[in-house]
Amino acid sequence: MFEKLREAFSSLTKIVSEKKLSEKEVDDILFNFQLTLLESDVAQEVVEKICADLRSQLMGMSVERSKDVGELVRERLRTSILEIFAKTGTVDVPGLIEAAKEKGEPFVILFLGINGTGKTTTVAKFAYFLKQNGFSVAVAAGDTHRAGAIEQLTQHADRMSVKVVAQRYGADPAAVARDGVLYAKAHHVDVLIVDSAGRMQTNQNLMEEMGKIVRVVSPNLKIFIGDSLAGNDAISQAQMFSKYTGFDGAILTKTDADTKGGAALSIAFVTGRPIMFLGVGQEYKDLKKFDANSFVDLLLG
Ligand code: GDP
Repeated sequence: MFEKLREAFSSLTKIVSEKKLSEKEVDDILFNFQLTLLESDVAQEVVEKICADLRSQLMGMSVERSKDVGELVRERLRTSILEIFAKTGTVDVPGLIEAAKEKGEPFVILFLGINGTGKTTTVAKFAYFLKQNGFSVAVAAGDTHRAGAIEQLTQHADRMSVKVVAQRYGADPAAVARDGVLYAKAHHVDVLIVDSAGRMQTNQNLMEEMGKIVRVVSPNLKIFIGDSLAGNDAISQAQMFSKYTGFDGAILTKTDADTKGGAALSIAFVTGRPIMFLGVGQEYKDLKKFDANSFVDLLLG
């Protein structure tokens, strides 16, 4: 997992530990480091932040250097990355649901994302996570465009004994979402998860459709699903959803197969929203709460 980014960090700390660096050498090292970060799907803005932080540290150390310089650089990298995640805050999903329950209202979660990113699987994993936490769940099949989407969601839901609220293909997704809310209210269901369509993010209609669902059901939480294997595409999709519908947090899927590792860092930085969970496999249980410290430990060793 995330091998490429881990390798970039470890070779940087190794180089700077080995010899005294001139200003030119610092620049050359940082230039190569920047390239590796970019190749690891770290967005340009994030690369600039990390390298600016590092440059000041490396230059400051050029006169009086110690053997622990590699360790200092690692610490600087750790601080730089943790700063990015600290700015986004976190989302306490069970806490928010409990608060809604006290008011006697269903908690509505809208899932946003492009087809193929693992959205449907993640809706199922999330329903499983909520059930494991003792909440009752229903799902609304809001992707009324993609052939098979309703059946796929229904199959998952049946396996978990979760109710699916659906209409025919081509129906208005906002109407499906509203039906879902009415069902959840009538049956005292704690959480309604609304799936949505995922045609390409450049499609203006898709963004308008998402905007309509948001207006009609006012979700308590909007979660963006990004495919960590999609690299820069995942980052631009996140920016697009962030701009048109806004979202409260992101789930990154397929991180178990991601050898690069830059997507989490980049999405958090460019949208200012937290990474809430990581998809780490194809089973329902394979949804892991994101923890910034563990993520940095994994990257920096
Ligand atoms: P959707 O089109 O966005 O609804 O995508 P699907 O939910 O149908 O998922 C597409 C593929 O990605 C399926 O084969 C899923 O099993 C797979 N997938 C989803 N999440 C993960 C994950 O976290 N890890 C791995 N390895 N595969 C995943």
